[in-house]
Amino acid sequence: SVKNYDVVVLGAGAAGLFCAIEAGKRGRKVAVIDHAKRLGGKILMSGGGRCNFTNMYASHENFLSQNPHFCKSALSRYTQWDFIGLVSDYGIAYHEKTLGQLFCDDTAKDIVDMLLSECKKAKVEIINRCDFISVDAREIGYEVEVATGTLHCESFVVATGGLSMPKLGASPIGYRIAEQFGLDIVPTKAALVPFTLHDTDKAVLSTLSGVSADASASCNNTSFSENILFTHRGLSGPAVLQISSFWVPGNDVCFDLFPKGDLQAELASAKLNQPDALLSTVLSAHYSKRLVQTLLPYFKIDNKPLKQYNDNALKQVAQAFSQWHIKPNGTEGYRTAEVTLGGVNTDHLSSKTMECKTQAGLYFIGEVMDVTGWLGGYNFQWAWSSGWCAGQVV
Ligand code: FAD
Repeated sequence: SVKNYDVVVLGAGAAGLFCAIEAGKRGRKVAVIDHAKRLGGKILMSGGGRCNFTNMYASHENFLSQNPHFCKSALSRYTQWDFIGLVSDYGIAYHEKTLGQLFCDDTAKDIVDMLLSECKKAKVEIINRCDFISVDAREIGYEVEVATGTLHCESFVVATGGLSMPKLGASPIGYRIAEQFGLDIVPTKAALVPFTLHDTDKAVLSTLSGVSADASASCNNTSFSENILFTHRGLSGPAVLQISSFWVPGNDVCFDLFPKGDLQAELASAKLNQPDALLSTVLSAHYSKRLVQTLLPYFKIDNKPLKQYNDNALKQVAQAFSQWHIKPNGTEGYRTAEVTLGGVNTDHLSSKTMECKTQAGLYFIGEVMDVTGWLGGYNFQWAWSSGWCAGQVV
């Protein structure tokens, strides 16, 4: 027997649930299908368990896409302030951690509970632990085969996310469905992901595992000033994750480990005031001892009393720290990436409704599309905004 729905959403992640809620509120009969064991698994893990659910400063400028204008409409129709309003209605306490990033005070479960409670209010049926088999267009609407039987719907919404973190249920099914209906996929790539290093760099730098430093990271005319973290496999931390979205294999990344001042001037004045002090002692006012002891030999800089450096030598020291070029070996890939760059080409979709221009009743929302946010709550905001827009019309 065939079960009839107005709307079937594939993927009960952030975007899928949000779209289902909006459609359900309009009186549409909605089912959401997901194969994951745990509902909202990614939301629960997000933001270190506190879910960075949006960003106060979210705008189209915080997103990467082949069409940088595509996301403007949805972001302005359902804004961060709309979502913050919903979070406040539920009495969920939150705070700004840094740079407009809003996190739950308590846990990410507050956000999942809020979404599930909204689903219940809107009479959304969630069918989880359910494998998707196929979808086909019918004369009217779509026929969807899932493990538990056949569903028929007027509107079919693909909200299957990207490829990051396969352990949490990620799969390429959304891209396959797009291809089935003749849409093309902007090549995908792991993003917001730590770098791995070439063996020679790794041999030295892995000894710094756990050490972090203020830094700005630059690549391909883009730079982020946050924090970097040395790990046993390579480099991580917010500035590294951010720049990874702009990095292309073979590129150098340039780190400024003295982003808030002029290291050469600092060293020159230290030389005047304490000429007998060792370079490492002076640098240790700014960095951890371990960092200095590791980076000086790595940068091939001798550690001597400051009076033994002439102006040019001090300049070279400053440059080593403020223009450190390193060529990553690669990234840790989808296993640890927060997001997937690329996805369903937005040229095929309406920026107002997320409906496919050539296939009425078929929608793509959230991360499966070629819209990828920076680190900082932008990816969830895209899930809410794009899900909301589709939810008004499905
Ligand atoms: P998802 O949330 O990934 O949901 C897709 C759903 O589809 C999943 O439930 C999956 O099980 C289901 N699915 C996939 N394939 C199938 C299939 N074949 N059959 C049935 N179901 C299927 N972003 C932020 O803005 N702030 C953060 O703090 C943040 N932290 C993150 C931390 C981690 C560890 C990760 C991995 C990501 C984080 N992100 C964060 C990114 C953010 O989680 C995603 O961009 C967002 O969840 C995308 O929403 P979505 O609904 O499009 O996809």
